[in-house]
Amino acid sequence: MSSSANLYREAAANVDAAADDLGLEPTVRDILSSPQHELIVNFPVQRDSGEYVMFQGYRIQHNNVLGPFKGGMRFHPAVDLDEVRALATWMTFKSALVRLPFGGAKGGVAIDPAKHSRSEMERVVRRFTHSLGENIGPGYDIPAPDVGTNAQTMAWMMDTYLNSRGPAERQGARGVVTGKPIEIGGSLGRAEATGKGAAYALRHLYGEYDRSLGDQTVAIQGFGNVGSHGAVALEELGMKVVAVSDATGTVHADRGLNIDALIAHANSASGVAGFSDAETLTTDEFFALDVDVLMPAALEAQITADNVDSIQARVVLEAANGPVTAAAAEKLHAGGVDVVPDILANAGGVIVSYYEWVQNKTQHHWSAGDVDSQLRNTIWDACDRVAARRNGAGSTRRHAAYLEACDLLQSVYELRGIFP
Ligand code: NAD
Repeated sequence: MSSSANLYREAAANVDAAADDLGLEPTVRDILSSPQHELIVNFPVQRDSGEYVMFQGYRIQHNNVLGPFKGGMRFHPAVDLDEVRALATWMTFKSALVRLPFGGAKGGVAIDPAKHSRSEMERVVRRFTHSLGENIGPGYDIPAPDVGTNAQTMAWMMDTYLNSRGPAERQGARGVVTGKPIEIGGSLGRAEATGKGAAYALRHLYGEYDRSLGDQTVAIQGFGNVGSHGAVALEELGMKVVAVSDATGTVHADRGLNIDALIAHANSASGVAGFSDAETLTTDEFFALDVDVLMPAALEAQITADNVDSIQARVVLEAANGPVTAAAAEKLHAGGVDVVPDILANAGGVIVSYYEWVQNKTQHHWSAGDVDSQLRNTIWDACDRVAARRNGAGSTRRHAAYLEACDLLQSVYELRGIFP
C-alpha cells in the first residue's frame, strides 16, 4: 500500500474508532467514511519556453452537512488522490470540532513550485481554478492556502474566479477563497492564525498541567507559514526555540535561535540552511533532541514506527496535518508523551479563514485584536471540550477530539434527517 493510501486508511480509522465508541448510526458512519465528491482535472499550461505541459489537479469534497466545503490547496510533488482524500477528511472533523459552519475539502496539484517561474505558477493557478469551474464558490466550496501555496496563490484564484463570472455573481464573491492578501479582502491575523492557534493550544495544555511555558524548549519542523508564525508565537509565550528544520536542512542552538533573524535569513536564502548563528543537525538528530515540545509543522508521516523510539520530547504539538502515524502515536501515548492532535492544534487557520469569510460577506472589517481574541477563545473552548471528553473516556486527546466532532455530526444528521 502506498504511503498516501495508508494515510487515508488512518484518517478513516480515527473516525471508525470514535464511531464505535459513540455507537454512530450505521448510515451516518457510511456517509462520513467516504468523500461526497472526488474531482480530477487535467489541464495544459504553457511554460516560459513556449511548450505545453499537462498537469493533474484534485479537489476532494468530503462532507458539507455543517456548511460549505472548506479546505486548502496544496502544491507539492507528492500530492496524489489518497493524500488529498485524507486531508479533506480531516477538514470535516476539524471544522466540526471547533464548531464552524463549514464542511471539509482539500485540493492540490502534483507540482514542485520551486521548479517553475512566477509567471508559470500564475498560469498553473489560473488554469487550475478555471478547470474547477462551478465546483468552487463562496457559498459552496472555499479553498485556502496550504503547503506550497500562499496569499498570492489565493489572489490569482480569486481574480480568475471573479473574471469567469457575470456582474451579478461577482457581488460578495471575494469570499470564494480565504487567506487572501489584506488589500483584496483578506483578514488581519489570517497569515499568523495557524501557528498562533497551535501556541494557544499549547498554552491551554500547560494550564492543564498547572505549569508555565516560560523557558520551555521547542524544536520545530517546517518553517513556512505555520512553522515560522508558530515560532514567533511560542517565543512570545516565553519559550526557547532551540531547533528548526525545513526542506533545506536543520539549524540548532541550545541558547535559543533568534527567530526574527532566522525568518529574514530563510526569506532571502529560501530556507533555514546556511543560517550562520547555529550548528547543523541531521534529521535523525533533530527528532532525537531532548526538548520539552516537538512541533512538526511540515508534512504528514514524519514521526513513524522508524523514528518514534528516538523521540525525547514530552509533548508533540501536531501543527502539520497527520505528522504522526497511528502506530507512532500509540507508542508515544504508551510512553507518556502528550500528543495534541492536528484537528485541534492547527485549527487556527480554518477558524480565521471563517472570520475572513464572514468579513467578506458582511463587508465589515475586524481589528487584529478582535480576530486574535476570538481565535484564542475558540481554540480554548475546543481544548476544554477535548480535555473533558478525555477525562470521561480516559482516552488519547486525538480520540477525544474525534468523539467531540463525530457527536456533533451525528446530532446534525439526526436533526436534519438523511435526504430524501
Ligand atoms: P508551507 O509550504 O508554507 O511550509 C512548509 C514547510 O515544510 C517549509 O518550510 C518546507 O521547507 C518544509 N518541509 C517540506 N518538506 C520537508 C521535509 N521533508 N523535512 C522538513 N521540512 C520540510 O506550508 P504550511 O502552510 O506552513 O503547512 C505546513 C503544514 O501545516 C501542512 O501539514 C499543512 O497541511 C498544515 N496546515 C497549514 C495551514 C495553513 O494555514 N497554512 C492550516 C492548517 C494546517
